Amino acid sequence: MSDLRDFVADLMEQQGAAVDTLEPDGLEVIAPDAVRAAFGWPELARLGFGAQLPPAAQRVGLEGDWLERFETVLGGHGRRAERQIDIPQTPVLTDPERVLRQALDLPNAVWRFQGQQTVWTRLVLIAFRTTAVSDEKRENILWMGFNTGSGAAIGEALTRLYVTPDSASSWRAPDPAVREAASPAWDAATLEARVRPALDAAVEAELAPFLNAMRRRLARDHTRLHCYHDDLRRESMRRLRGLEGTSGAKAESDRQRERARIAAIEREYGAKLDDLRHNYALRVTVDWIQTLEAFVPVQRLAVLVRRRKGERLIHLDWHPIARRAEPPVCDWGPGSSVTRLVCDQRLHLTEAGGQDPCPGCSRPFCRACHPAACPRCGKAVVAGVERLN
Ligand SMILES: [Zn+2]
Ligand SMILES: [Zn+2]
Repeated sequence: MSDLRDFVADLMEQQGAAVDTLEPDGLEVIAPDAVRAAFGWPELARLGFGAQLPPAAQRVGLEGDWLERFETVLGGHGRRAERQIDIPQTPVLTDPERVLRQALDLPNAVWRFQGQQTVWTRLVLIAFRTTAVSDEKRENILWMGFNTGSGAAIGEALTRLYVTPDSASSWRAPDPAVREAASPAWDAATLEARVRPALDAAVEAELAPFLNAMRRRLARDHTRLHCYHDDLRRESMRRLRGLEGTSGAKAESDRQRERARIAAIEREYGAKLDDLRHNYALRVTVDWIQTLEAFVPVQRLAVLVRRRKGERLIHLDWHPIARRAEPPVCDWGPGSSVTRLVCDQRLHLTEAGGQDPCPGCSRPFCRACHPAACPRCGKAVVAGVERLN
């Protein structure tokens, strides 16, 4: 639990508290009034973090409401941060075309390498907390990253690498000159246009195992419920058939009783199904928690893309810290693979599905050119991602 002790010690010192260590695994804190009020501490608070508490110490742990109270003290601090990552030297690629052959797959276009340049670029790395609640609860942290210089979504592996840097590269506040040299920040509208579809896809992928497990439990409960009520109903039907052909007041009242029982079984089954629906109703919330802007050196490869008579210059960055290229820019779809189809009109690069035939008129069209509907028959485009409501 020493990580938590270090965190609390740092947090308290930032808040202007005097902090001393106590053994075993404890802290002695003289905190300012506001902090003491938030935590309900005396003037001299003795805190314990381990299995064994120092004498007269109060226990602090991840359980209970401690994390929420720390959040109160932290407020919005740490939600946005900027870092510059330095490496001793950015290597120039000796065979950039080989890198491009692995990083770029254009089945319906050709490309030509135009040149490479060492530049600073600005990455936007954003963290979201996803919470899914149905009959069970699942929480997770999702990171996604974009390169504002090349326009690419840099993918999970690169994003993870930049948010958990190793000791080989140095992290520090960005130099004004580096910030100036790097690509400009995206405005809110651009960021939203990029983040929203990527987030939908990421949330769906992240929830898929949870949803599948939930669907299995739902199917199991449904089957069990059905079998139970079906057995009861069959039993009543069998008795009803046994009464066929008999007459008299007793037989008639038996028949009525069985019919009433069958109706009651059906009602109960309907009510139980409603309960099931209610128990398994899924609620997903996604909250933004942190944005990190990282200024990093990259090797920028200029590539000319040709499709029929059209040409388009794109940039694809090679990240020396990861020794790998980012995925190519993608004008439609999350773009996590290296394959892109190129559209005829404006040479958009899209995922394969972005040039699919229209489900209405069967003619292919570019979803980046026409995001809302088919230009020929007007059939609305349904988002590639199943909406989770
Ligand atoms: Zn159509
Ligand atoms: Zn297009």
